[in-house]
Amino acid sequence: MSRTSIVAGNWKMHGSRAENASLIEAIAAQFPSTPQAECVVCPPFVYLQEVARLVRDAEIPVALGAQDVCAEGQGAYTGEVSAAMLKDVGCGYVIVGHSERRMGYGEDDPLVARKFAAAQAKGLIPILCVGEQLSEREAGRTHEVVSRQLDAALELCGVEAFARAVVAYEPCWAIGTGHNATPEQAEEVHRFIRGRIGARNAKIAAEARILYGGSVKAGNAGELFTQPDVDGGLIGGASLKADEFLAILAAARR
Ligand code: PEP
Repeated sequence: MSRTSIVAGNWKMHGSRAENASLIEAIAAQFPSTPQAECVVCPPFVYLQEVARLVRDAEIPVALGAQDVCAEGQGAYTGEVSAAMLKDVGCGYVIVGHSERRMGYGEDDPLVARKFAAAQAKGLIPILCVGEQLSEREAGRTHEVVSRQLDAALELCGVEAFARAVVAYEPCWAIGTGHNATPEQAEEVHRFIRGRIGARNAKIAAEARILYGGSVKAGNAGELFTQPDVDGGLIGGASLKADEFLAILAAARR
């Protein structure tokens, strides 16, 4: 089964108009003429439109993603941003259920599943983040936690929704810590995720892109991305450095 890999940069709450312009300029200066993977950048909400323009002006095939979305369609939800708004400013993707939102802002599985559904309803591709905490891994509960997170979206939206979605396995203990999962640990969970989707629909599972996230760098991307069920990465810190991000993109296979 050949799946086009994705390398997505999660800029988190970093950047400024000037820094974003420099980063896109540096990425564009060395962007491969035949990229081996789809490339996505996810800036903070306020910069989405400007980054869309920078990418367009630089004429590089980089898609735009948001880092979160409101589960509601529109209305009196102060401070929230809807899927329709994200689509309106040029987003193709949106991260849902990042562990920083689950842990820092109390987002639970039902809410994340509703965000997944809201994104898809407006034609955005959700990047559904799943992953266990260190204590859960040590207690042998990784599969249980990942199943619970995955099943919330599978049950609300149906397996067919995963034909237009991306899953990111992001073990919490690897995010921003410098300690990535080993390629074997990543592959084991990716295979489990694909199997869980496959129990409902084998074809959709075979075609689903499952990204690994957690301290991916230029130096470890190659061995992570050569695992058969790892279809690219969701990149935090290293996505803010053009050289690192481009090296990670180059390590992704088609
Ligand atoms: C992330 O924020 O999704 C992430 C994987 O971060 P980092 O690459 O910095 O670990």
